[in-house]
Amino acid sequence: MQDFIQRVEDCNPGEREFLQAVSEVAESVKPVLDRNPEYRKEKIMERIVEPERAVMFRVPWVDDAGEVQINRGYRIQMNSSIGPYKGGFRFHPSVNLSILKFLAFEQVFKNALTTLPMGGGKGGSDFDPKGRSDREIMRFCQSFMSEIFRHIGPDTDVPAGDIGVGAREIGYLFGMYKKLHNEFTGVLTGKGLKWGGSLIRPEATGYGAVYFAAEMLAARGETLEGKVCLVSGSGNVAQFTTEKLIELGATVVTLSDSNGYIYDEAGIDREKLHYVMELKNIRRGRIKEYTEKYPEAVYIPLETSTPVNPLWDHKAQCAFPSATQNEINGKDAENLVKNGVYVISEGANMPTTPDGVDLFVDHKLLYGPGKAANAGGVSVSGLEMTQNSMRLSWTREEVDNRLRTIMKSIHHACTDAAETYGKPGNYVMGANIAGFEKVAEAMLAQGVV
Ligand code: NDP
Repeated sequence: MQDFIQRVEDCNPGEREFLQAVSEVAESVKPVLDRNPEYRKEKIMERIVEPERAVMFRVPWVDDAGEVQINRGYRIQMNSSIGPYKGGFRFHPSVNLSILKFLAFEQVFKNALTTLPMGGGKGGSDFDPKGRSDREIMRFCQSFMSEIFRHIGPDTDVPAGDIGVGAREIGYLFGMYKKLHNEFTGVLTGKGLKWGGSLIRPEATGYGAVYFAAEMLAARGETLEGKVCLVSGSGNVAQFTTEKLIELGATVVTLSDSNGYIYDEAGIDREKLHYVMELKNIRRGRIKEYTEKYPEAVYIPLETSTPVNPLWDHKAQCAFPSATQNEINGKDAENLVKNGVYVISEGANMPTTPDGVDLFVDHKLLYGPGKAANAGGVSVSGLEMTQNSMRLSWTREEVDNRLRTIMKSIHHACTDAAETYGKPGNYVMGANIAGFEKVAEAMLAQGVV
């Protein structure tokens, strides 16, 4: 395994996040490879870490001042052995090949866990939507789609949103795809309700992360009612995580953005959450403004130079990291444990560094890794694809019930796989093994392609 990791490192120099994601999966599936020698013989691991295709392209556009701007666009088509590539677009200045390859790699196993027929992919750009006008966002999205349209399609690759890509961006991207292809198809998910979108899609990732936490607690005969919860981020995932937690009787005391976080000891209730949604989704303001409206809360700016994130240093029972990768490091994980947190359900992708993950697993916490806990979003995207193919729309209740059932079955698949391999309660191993086995079997059946 050490040789394998070394080879991946040599072939992908400097791709820190990608290597981190590969190392975790490789470590988890070692016993599966020992039990199934044909996986080694057919070089499943060596093949699974190599994207089937990676596209990188120029995205030129003109800003409101008439200046030409150039960004870089990407699409990583990682694995299509169980269905068309599926995974979001991320627009954020930090986007690079390593981050998108880690996200695409995680997506392969996550999508396999959902039980729906979806392969894995991810894409995006280093474009920063912050501070840009609607017109600039539209021109950027149109330029991005004018290249990527030839690589995607409803039976080939179906992108969705992620950081920096919400309903507005999906609208502009879809409009351009439709114009270029002269075809109205379900090529993107996260569409508006009136033009092919699914009810519950915006809510799905956050709701799913809460359902997953509820399942982990139920296995111990507990519920979320009365639990104090730390939530990071204040975007799509954080907002709907908070909404569902409030509904289930939990108290959410934090929300954040990349500049800082708010701590509201009294709890963020429905009215306060409504204010946050309006602040972030319509006015596109900063979370700091929360304390102007609710002065009983405090705002703490985040210093990038400090080794810990103080958001994770409050008394609580549950944590829902919902911002970005590696937002909980080993020291933050220690702080969470010290403060009594014993449920962690990851809305974000890979938000915990490997030393933090080890600490959670060693302490036998109820730790739901992102590829299981945040799979609700892509699951409802899969349901959106089904509704588009059938040309009908399911009700809110129907989609929510299906989401709940999928999250239950993901929880079951994780616990089952962990028990089979002698690690009961280890959701990291469980999720990696359950996702990997499904993809590996499909790859074996389809030959060396
Ligand atoms: P949004 O763009 O809606 O929100 C992202 C939030 O995280 C914002 O509050 C943002 O703050 C904050 N954030 C982003 N980057 C950083 C950073 N480097 N440091 C600190 N804070 C940061 O994205 P989503 O809510 O959709 O995504 C959040 C996470 O959930 C991501 O990891 C994503 O991959 C994952 N995810 C999302 C799914 C979905 O359906 N949307 C599905 C599965 C996983 P600011 O405004 O300052 O940038």
